[in-house]
Amino acid sequence: MNLLVAIVGRPNVGKSTLFNRIVGRRAAIVEPTPGVTRDRHFADASWNGRDFMLVDTGGIGPSSRDDPLHESVREQTDLAVSAADVVLLLLDGREGLVPVDEELIGDLRRSRIPFMVAINKIDAERLEAESVEFHRLGVAPLYMISAEHGRGVGDLLDAVVETFPEPVTPQEQTDRVAVVIVGRPNVGKSSLVNRLLREERLVVSELPGTTRDAIDTPVRAGDRDYTLIDTAGIRRRGKISGRVEYLSVHSARKSLDRADVAVLLIDGVEGVTAQDAHIAGDIVEAGAGCVVAVNKWDAVPLERKDADAMTRKIRERLKHVSFCPAVTVSALTGLRVGRIFDLVDRVASERGKRVDTADLNRFLQDVTDRTPPPPVRGRDIKIYYATQSSAFPPTFVLFTNRTGAFHFSYQRFLLNQLRKRYGFEGTPLRLHFRHRSGRKAASGDVSVFKR
Ligand code: GDP
Ligand code: GDP
Repeated sequence: MNLLVAIVGRPNVGKSTLFNRIVGRRAAIVEPTPGVTRDRHFADASWNGRDFMLVDTGGIGPSSRDDPLHESVREQTDLAVSAADVVLLLLDGREGLVPVDEELIGDLRRSRIPFMVAINKIDAERLEAESVEFHRLGVAPLYMISAEHGRGVGDLLDAVVETFPEPVTPQEQTDRVAVVIVGRPNVGKSSLVNRLLREERLVVSELPGTTRDAIDTPVRAGDRDYTLIDTAGIRRRGKISGRVEYLSVHSARKSLDRADVAVLLIDGVEGVTAQDAHIAGDIVEAGAGCVVAVNKWDAVPLERKDADAMTRKIRERLKHVSFCPAVTVSALTGLRVGRIFDLVDRVASERGKRVDTADLNRFLQDVTDRTPPPPVRGRDIKIYYATQSSAFPPTFVLFTNRTGAFHFSYQRFLLNQLRKRYGFEGTPLRLHFRHRSGRKAASGDVSVFKR
């Protein structure tokens, strides 16, 4: 497990900005409205060759007193601090010293974990002189930084990394499977995440838009580490309005790109909808593995409670993911929720599978002998040679005497044969066709088939 560094501070002091600066990507959505960044945000980060996990906590302090989420946000920050190895307290240099800042420092002193205090929004040297009042806190050194411009952030990170214990043997470092839960609004994503984490890590609330950011959370199940990427759900493309909605859809797509396996959550009461199918397409497009979880099984009326029939219907209506395992669950009661990680593991390993080139070629020879590709304009189509060029997801290059000539249905036939022979349960596959003569293997000569 990596060391955990938590950024804490009142709303609007610049925690997300600092988080993004350190992580180097737009992982959190920064909004000018105070308190928008409500949940813990986790990401892997690295400085001076030391890897760590960074968490951006929600705001704390009386300034969010009017906010109905105030209490849960405060609890979350407590949780983050209790789990952290180092805490970074961020104060607002523009606003000046606020009483609650002193309370926070008192709390941190009592917690006995290493902490640094940084004064943010010191965008220029002359502003340092204006922030002398912070010295009253009796904390030294104070780091004067500008999260927005990067000023002083390097020195701060030097100090953070210096508190780390010597690295342990990299031997026990396991590969983290990145899992994203996707589904249309109200299928039970937040409920499921909460159930999976077995603690109130996410704010579940009746307020719309509570979980609109992508949130990465490290989680351990069985003896494996996962990174859980939760998103606000992928909304229908045509129905997006406003900047936050745009960002959340964008964020959901980007989450899929980062995910090894997506758990596609479906509402078992409402059944499969067009929007579910659309999301399934996005998963395959992104190259993520997929486990279909049919939620709210507790509420499905008895006469319709037939898991096999449901699985068949899913295969039929969600053609994009017909090769994926499915399970009926209830986030509410916890029914078979643990099974999801078993299936995620299975799919993750299938997605990383590599097949032997000699075996692959013998097999393809056999398949094409029995069922040759249909001739195009009287000319025979041949597959000379094939190789798996990469995994995650498994990608095959087939060298042929023609490209663009493979009929869609024959490509699908080949993919089905590959699945029959090698499994690849739950993972998309990629086929690339390339003309045999090397000099012609330009981009126009390559056709890509995803499924
Ligand atoms: P959070 O609520 O603590 O996560 O704060 P945000 O990261 O959302 O930042 C709150 C506001 O402060 C945003 O409008 C940021 O653009 C602004 N801000 C953050 N860092 C800096 C900085 O270094 N200098 C200045 N001038 N503004 C900043
Ligand atoms: P999200 O929008 O996908 O994050 O969905 P939520 O987790 O907010 O859940 C939407 C609604 O469905 C809430 O009222 C939940 O209580 C309810 N819900 C979630 N999971 C289940 C379940 O397994 N069974 C039942 N009966 N209701 C559920």
